Amino acid sequence: MSDRSLIKAPRIIAVTNQKGGVGKTTTAINLASALIEQGCRVLVVDLDPQGNASTGLGLELEDRDYSTYDLLTGEADVGDIVVKTQWDGLWLSPATTDLASADMELHDADQRSFLLQKALRSEDINDLELDYILIDCPPSLSLLTVNAMVAADSVLVPLQAEFFALEGLSQLMLSVREVRQGANPNLRIEGVVLTMYDVRNNLSQLVEADARATLGEIVFKTMIPRNVRISEAPSYAQSVLHYDSGSRGAKAYRALAKELLERHEGANRRGAHEQEA
Ligand code: ADP
Ligand code: MG
Repeated sequence: MSDRSLIKAPRIIAVTNQKGGVGKTTTAINLASALIEQGCRVLVVDLDPQGNASTGLGLELEDRDYSTYDLLTGEADVGDIVVKTQWDGLWLSPATTDLASADMELHDADQRSFLLQKALRSEDINDLELDYILIDCPPSLSLLTVNAMVAADSVLVPLQAEFFALEGLSQLMLSVREVRQGANPNLRIEGVVLTMYDVRNNLSQLVEADARATLGEIVFKTMIPRNVRISEAPSYAQSVLHYDSGSRGAKAYRALAKELLERHEGANRRGAHEQEA
C-alpha cells in the first residue's frame, strides 16, 4: 500500500478569463495534452456549461452520465464522474448543461465557494496520483469561477492578442485579490499567456509589448500563434498535439508546458533553498 503522505498534492491551475473566445478551453486541452507528453498525470475539470473541453477531449454529450455539477454537490462518486480519456495519464471531469443553473442552485449551499476545493481534495482524486489539475472556467466571474479560484493554487490567464485585450484584466485581478483576501490567501498568478498571436499583425506586437510592459514577468515567454490546426483539432476530438504533432500550434503548447514545468522546478528549488537557509 502506498503511503499517502508521500504523494504530493497536484498543482491546481484555474484557466480563467471572463472574456469568451480568448483561448481558455483550447489552452486547457492542449496544455493538458502537452503535460502528459512530458510524463505528467493530469485531470481536466470542465467547469463551463458549454462543455467544449469535454467535447474536445472526445467525450460525446450522450456519454456523459455525470458531470462536474455532481462533483460540486457531492451527490455522486468521484469514480463515476471522472472518466479516463483515450490518452494515458489524462482524465476528465465532464460538463453538461446542468452547470448552467449551478449559480442559482448552489447559491444557498453551505460553504458555496468551497465546493470544488472540497471535491478536489477528496481521497478518490488523491488516488489518481495527479501532477496537475487544470480547470477550464466559464466566461464569467460567477460562483463557478470563484469555486475554481478557491480550489486552485494559481490562475492561468489566456489573453487574446487583440485590441482591448488588457481591458478586462483589471477586473479579473480584482477577483483574484478578493479571493486572496478571503477564501484562498495562497492563490497565485500562474501567468498570462498570449493566444492567437499573429506575427504579421502589428496589433499583436503592440498588445504583446503592452502586456509585457504592464504585467512584467508573469507573461509567459511562449506565445500561442494563431494556427488553423489548433482550431481544427477539436472537431476531430483531439488535441492539436495528437492531430498534427509537427504543427506550429502543437510546438507552441509543448513549449508552454515546458516553460510551466521549468517555472515550477525553479520555484521548488527556491523553496528548498529557503528551507535550508
Ligand atoms: P474560450 O474557452 O476562452 O471561450 P476557446 O478556447 O474556445 O476560447 O477559443 C475560441 C475559438 O478560437 C475556438 O473556435 C478555437 O478553436 C479558436 N482558437 C483558440 N486558440 C486558437 C489559436 N491559437 N489559433 C486559431 N484558433 C484558435
Ligand atoms: Mg471555453
